[in-house]
Amino acid sequence: MLKTAELSIFDEVNLFFDNAADRLGLDDGLREMLKRPWRELLVQVPVRMDDGQIKVFSGSRVQHNAARGPYKGGVRYHPLADLEEVRALASLMTWKTALVNLPYGGAKGGVQVDPGLLSQSELNRLTRRYTLNIEHLLGPNRDIPAPDMGTNSQTMAWMMDAYGQLHGHTPAAVTGKPVEMGGSYGRDSATGRGVALLLQEAAKDMGLNAQGARIAVQGFGNVGSWAARLIRESGCRVIAVSDVEGGLYNAKGLDIPRLQEYREATGGFFGFPGGEQITNSELLELECDVLIPAAIDNVITEENANRIKAPLIMEAANHPITPEADSILTEGGVTILPDILVNAGGVVVSYFEWTQNLQEFRWEESRVNDELKKIMLQAYHEVWTRSSTEQITHRQASFEIGVQRVARAVELRGFV
Ligand code: NAD
Repeated sequence: MLKTAELSIFDEVNLFFDNAADRLGLDDGLREMLKRPWRELLVQVPVRMDDGQIKVFSGSRVQHNAARGPYKGGVRYHPLADLEEVRALASLMTWKTALVNLPYGGAKGGVQVDPGLLSQSELNRLTRRYTLNIEHLLGPNRDIPAPDMGTNSQTMAWMMDAYGQLHGHTPAAVTGKPVEMGGSYGRDSATGRGVALLLQEAAKDMGLNAQGARIAVQGFGNVGSWAARLIRESGCRVIAVSDVEGGLYNAKGLDIPRLQEYREATGGFFGFPGGEQITNSELLELECDVLIPAAIDNVITEENANRIKAPLIMEAANHPITPEADSILTEGGVTILPDILVNAGGVVVSYFEWTQNLQEFRWEESRVNDELKKIMLQAYHEVWTRSSTEQITHRQASFEIGVQRVARAVELRGFV
């Protein structure tokens, strides 16, 4: 079994990459080129705080690979978003955009900050400074940021404005913007919608009756809250949800819209009448049909993998399962649908937003959702077929497809 205690998160993702590269028979040089980021930039982000003091945060943008098109990837504001984590997330974007066959490469950005501790005006100043410091890497044909953990459509509006002050009005420079600023209908819900769509498909393929199936969702931000809401609308029972503070459980199913209203009014889950309090580790170990980690990385490790009871795990967060835990779960017969497939809905609708911006034309929401469904199902069926034909896991199949496409693009470009 893989021992990953000494490895960084980027090394961990590369174990999945190496596994695919071995099976594809890639030679050492090409493997090295695909594994390492093509370009990395570290920046300092000084911010004048509301009390007049200056605080300096660390930021980065990692451009992992652009063989298939401009770099594409979110910006994360989180205290642990260091270079190694951003590298890992950037590489996942490369394999993800290739897997869902979008004309993009992979990138990621990060600022090591807890956005919950900053005021809106401090966040505005931080975002502008960060954008100015990486601006020479960006552009609609170069590198297109989007929201990730700790950032949202407001952050993207600030980024677009800061970029536009130097280059003129350029909505296609970032995606995940507010609809009023050239954002796409359906972008906000896209990642969660993709998760909900694939849940229906996987249930069919695994002979699980989705009506009334028990689903547990960790994380109640953009991805987790939309996934929970749409999964419930499709007839499943969302029996548990959580955020960083802990979670709520109700065996009969939580009323997600009411819970959302309650959370907006009170700022948290606790005290909600329709559920009992549980911890994040209890949520992960619940008796349920589908477990959806939708918060942060490395939440399922060799420590708790043996206690996971769900027969199906859908990785809505990026890298929620360590390679060691992945082996333990797979050996135990758990089906895992990997991050690069499950959470690709966000980048798919980001792609639609970018194309709408370039054409200065807007799609209706129904068109966005229909096209999203087509792309997600196509990728899902390719993964499912490859996994059953080659008798490999869904993660192995997903990485194989993604890595093969990027390797082919490098070959066709002929630049080495
Ligand atoms: P978000 O900031 O909107 O929400 C994060 C949620 O996770 C919050 O509810 C937070 O309370 C919770 N959380 C944070 N730390 C936690 C912890 N230690 N334990 C339990 N819960 C914790 O972020 P998001 O945009 O929903 O992203 C969630 C995950 O999905 C990330 O891994 C992100 O990379 C991935 N993702 C997001 C998108 C997108 O479109 N936003 C697309 C693809 C993948």
